[in-house]
This record gives sequence, structure tokens and C-alpha cells, in this order.
Amino acid sequence: MDHRLPATPEMAREFSALFVNRRAYTIQSTRPHPESGRHYYYRPKSKDGGKPAGLSLEIVRQHLAGDLTIGIYAINPATQRCKWMAIDADYKTALEDLIKVQRQLRDDGIEAALEKSKRGGHLWIFFERPVMARDARVYIYHVAGRLDVQVKGAGLSDGIEIFPKQDELRPGEFGNAIRSPLGVHWGARESRGWRYWYYGADYTLDDQMAYLRRLPKVQEQHLKRMIAGKTIPQEFAQRAQRPETPKYWESRPGEFRILDYVEVRRQVGRNWVARCPSCASQGHDKSGDNLAVCVEVPRKYCCWAGCTREMIRAAVGRPIADRRPV
Ligand SMILES: [Zn+2]
Repeated sequence: MDHRLPATPEMAREFSALFVNRRAYTIQSTRPHPESGRHYYYRPKSKDGGKPAGLSLEIVRQHLAGDLTIGIYAINPATQRCKWMAIDADYKTALEDLIKVQRQLRDDGIEAALEKSKRGGHLWIFFERPVMARDARVYIYHVAGRLDVQVKGAGLSDGIEIFPKQDELRPGEFGNAIRSPLGVHWGARESRGWRYWYYGADYTLDDQMAYLRRLPKVQEQHLKRMIAGKTIPQEFAQRAQRPETPKYWESRPGEFRILDYVEVRRQVGRNWVARCPSCASQGHDKSGDNLAVCVEVPRKYCCWAGCTREMIRAAVGRPIADRRPV
């Protein structure tokens, strides 16, 4: 079976109206990573090193046609709103959980579309007009709570993941992208039919688009009614802490404290994020987010670019062998 399908500009327009809420996007690599064998997503770069071009209708059309595969972001940073939310589940009982959630949503008067994935699926909810990301998240946390469906995070490795993953974006943030539906998944290969479809319609682009068109869209008013008086459960709440507030932990005299040497830019999940001193010494990490310092145990830190502890310590002038008191 060929992985390419005819896709029209009209399809791309309709698809964009449903799914595209900001111009930033990601592209899935058509070639597997030599070591992990996985097909990673990356943000496209511009050829001249400037700002990358935004998602165009033509790229969306190519996604539907199967020439390339894009990932999309939920939140528009200018409004903190999303057009859709997606619940991603890919563990052993993922499909059971998603169907449970889908049924509960239906009882709440909300129709959600279930899309296959490699292991489990994605459950999609569409809004008539974009709603506050925070409101959409509050709702799903409470549905999951009612059903005893676990939400990933808070120390659990299995559980559903909610896109948007953030209540709101800070300037310059993108949030987390999710594989855009109806395209080719390069990891799925020919043996699996190349694409993961929505269960609700026949497996052609026309039928799938018609299904999404018919699907009732949720009104903001309805969502507001469902979450009246509710907030995100304590254990999942993203604390609105600002960079200047890291608290020093109890340290032994002379103990190395990474927070004395870096400027924390923001908190992401359970980490402080800062420019890695070792990367910085080589002129890298200009965006200043390679170093993660655990909020609860600031003794733990690591560089996403792979700098070792030794390299980071050397870069701040406190090499590990150096036992001098502070
Ligand atoms: Zn580094």
C-alpha cells in the first residue's frame, strides 16, 4: 500500500480550521534515529538561520497527502486558548481508559473522537471557539478523578497525558506538540497501514474529514458549567512560581550549591531551568534552558545537552576535586 493519498487545498483549509491554533509546529523525521530507532519530531529551522517559517496550508496539505508529518501545539500564546484538547494514552490498559473517558464525556454532553495510536490512542475534543487552556485541563482532571483514571505525572509512570500540558504559556514557550492526526506515522510502516485513523469513520481522508465535520463541537459555556467551582487538583497544580524565588536548601558548610552559580529562568514541572554553565562556556545554550535543577532537591541537576557534572563544576570554577570551603 502506498503511503501517499490525494489531498486537496480545501481539505487542508478545513483541517487547519480544526487543528491549527498557532503557526509554530514540528516535523517528524522520516528516518529513524540510528540508535533508538525512533522517529523524532523537531522544530523546523529556517534556511538562513532566522525565524522558522510558520505552518502554511501547503504544509498541512502535504501532511494529509503523506509527504511529511507534522506535530501541532495546543495553546495560542497570545490568548492562552486552545481549539482542541487531546488525551494521549499509551500503556497496557490505555484503550480501556480512553473508552471509559469517552463514555463519561458523552454523559456530560461532550462527543470526543478516538484516534488510534501505536499502543492505545488519542481522544480528541473540539471546541466551537477556542477556550482557556486552563479550563479545558480542569475539566479533564476532574473526569479522570471521577473515573479513577490515572493522570501521568505526580510520580506515576503510567497514565493519561493531557494536551495542552500547560495551563498557560510564558513568553517564548511553545508547550508540548502532539502528532497531528490523519497523517503518516513514519514509525508505523507499511505493515501497519502507515496511518492511524479515527475509529468513527471509514479509513479514507474524505470519510475521516466528514466525520470530524459532523462531530458536535463543545461550547465554552458548556465547559464553564462543567467546571464551575473546580480547580486543578493540588498534586497537579503548576505553581505560578517565578524565577527569583528558588529556596536554598539546607546545605552543609562548603557544599556546592548549583543555584549560587546559575540564574534560574523559570520553573518547568518539577525543575528550575537555567543556562548550563558548561554549554555557555562553549557559546551554546543561548536559549538558556539546558540545565534542569530539581526544585525539591536542588542538589540534583543535569544538562539536557549531556554535559557531565564534572564539566559543569569546572565551568563555574568549582571543579569536583576542589574541597575548598565556600
Ligand atoms: Zn550543558
